[in-house]
Amino acid sequence: MAVVEPVIGLEVHAELNTESKLFCSCKNIFGAEPNTNVCPVCLGLPGTLPRLNRQACYYAVKMGQALNCEINMISRQDRKNYFYPDLPKAYQISQADIPVCGRGYLDILVDKEIRRIGITRIHIEEDAGKLLHDEATGGTLCDYNRCGVPLIEIVTEPDLRSPAEARIFLETVRAVLRYIGISDCKMQEGSIRCDVNVSVHEKGQPPGTRCELKNVNSFSAALRGIEYEIKRQTEIIADGGSVERETRRWDDKKGVSILMRSKENAQDYRFFPEPDLGLIVLDPEAVRQSKSELPELPDKKMIRYVKEHGLNSSEAFIIADSPEKAELYDECVSLEKCSCHSVANRIVGEITKYMNDTGRTIAETGITPENLCELCAAQEKGVISSSGSKTVLDELIIKGGNTEEIINRLGLVQNSDTGFLSELAGNIIALNEKSVNDYRNGKTNALGYLVGQAMKASGGKADPAKLRGILENKLKTEE
Ligand SMILES: [Zn+2]
Repeated sequence: MAVVEPVIGLEVHAELNTESKLFCSCKNIFGAEPNTNVCPVCLGLPGTLPRLNRQACYYAVKMGQALNCEINMISRQDRKNYFYPDLPKAYQISQADIPVCGRGYLDILVDKEIRRIGITRIHIEEDAGKLLHDEATGGTLCDYNRCGVPLIEIVTEPDLRSPAEARIFLETVRAVLRYIGISDCKMQEGSIRCDVNVSVHEKGQPPGTRCELKNVNSFSAALRGIEYEIKRQTEIIADGGSVERETRRWDDKKGVSILMRSKENAQDYRFFPEPDLGLIVLDPEAVRQSKSELPELPDKKMIRYVKEHGLNSSEAFIIADSPEKAELYDECVSLEKCSCHSVANRIVGEITKYMNDTGRTIAETGITPENLCELCAAQEKGVISSSGSKTVLDELIIKGGNTEEIINRLGLVQNSDTGFLSELAGNIIALNEKSVNDYRNGKTNALGYLVGQAMKASGGKADPAKLRGILENKLKTEE
């Protein structure tokens, strides 16, 4: 069979971190005692009326602007009717024909190449409650705290071509949400979830029939679910069958997708305009204001770092993913004291590791753009060795201070004096007969060991590049 090409589209649901819920004044918080954060409105009791949260609308507008979407100054809210125990009203207020944001796009970086992924729409809707399985009774418990929490749903065009691309897209969307600060983006708390549409077709043929995967609760689960679905559909086609239009549930524990419903019994939600709410009419001044407040977003930063600074995609991602790492990096680059690569290395390496290990932010370390650049410059100029620079960086991270003062106080200025290095090399050769013989018998990697021993003997102060040259020369010419 010919080469199979997958076509993938995503629906990303992100909870908005507004103060209150979408249609009532209940607090929008995670982790409260079950059913303590509810009122007659979000429980859908008869006689109550919803009142739209203005903040949620402008959060959706902001995301639309971040994803280059058309903003619909007038949009409509609709009822999506279905029964499920986590939805006490038996309908969800969403947006059908006229969402708050129309077409847009997001550029993502895939192996240093820019891929433009179309956004179909972004709409506002309310979340449903949560069902919990009760081990003691074998029954199901309902927690309605999440009912009415505001969500945006971001729907993409079927523009993604591989599980890896889908993952990069999701990570980039998450970074954008973080930058504009409208969602907590905590996957473990369910604040971002997604549904995935997958089809496969032979290269050059029209698109195949798509299946929708529900219940994808993490980015890695999305990757696994898409991989599984591509394989499943490819096998059906290879066996001469045809893929049916289905909605399937992803079971990440078992690593399989399970049929939920097929085309014949597809749900008809009987959407109709929500009679209890008017149209959403945006204020042009507020929309302009929102646009003017957008920062440089991570997708643009990533592309700039790769195209203009020559960073690789993963370095660019790690830096741009975090607003404060990007700020540190950008400030360092603007000082023009050292190369972009040195700064990127430090941020992606030691600084990120420290932040991950301790849970601290950059503001809670002693690192400043000035002392970090001085450190990078000192190493680039050969004033300190790489091991010396690590020692200095450790101190800068924990205590902060002036780079030059630390280098001098710790006596880390590197020795590149030829006489000193030559004597050091001679001593190391005399002390390491076995490695010397190994090297002379063709085991060239013994040189690395000897350089290491010499660096140790010098207390890390020898210039390693120069030392290596001298050592190599001695090993080759002296017996
Ligand atoms: Zn409420």
